Amino acid sequence: MNDAGCMATPLKGIEVRRSGVHGQGVFALRAIRSGQKIGPYAGRRYAPDEAHTGWDDQLTYLFGLSDGSMIDGAQGGNATRHLNHACDPNVEAVEDCNATDDRVLVIHTTRDIRAGEELFLDYALDVGGDDPATYPCECGAARCRGTLAATKRSRTVVDA
Ligand SMILES: [Zn+2]
Repeated sequence: MNDAGCMATPLKGIEVRRSGVHGQGVFALRAIRSGQKIGPYAGRRYAPDEAHTGWDDQLTYLFGLSDGSMIDGAQGGNATRHLNHACDPNVEAVEDCNATDDRVLVIHTTRDIRAGEELFLDYALDVGGDDPATYPCECGAARCRGTLAATKRSRTVVDA
């Protein structure tokens, strides 16, 4: 496990500032081509069997990995935790392994991004039995599905 090293990895070409959509957002400082790595989604790691409570308030900072572990970007996270949700996103989180073979999430661009453009991730929350309407989306995309909850995919898991 090398979270410190992971957090020290510089994030490329982005800055965090106030977003017109919600709170703070992540913006491109320069044009970024599709398929580029922005950097790791950093945060506190939770093993699959590790006890955790009180995550409801920070659901949007949690990412579940395929081995059942979790990353909580609200604790020890980097600028990527400020990525806002959109139903028509321009970045995605891809699971990868780092040099020490730990599972990591890396934020990649999924299309060309202009300088000054805000970066958006589709949170695709797994809200368990909750009503998706509890997590409303106001991203304004033509195909906005009206919720931050996943419809088909699910990346973020809450063990309710
Ligand atoms: Zn939306």
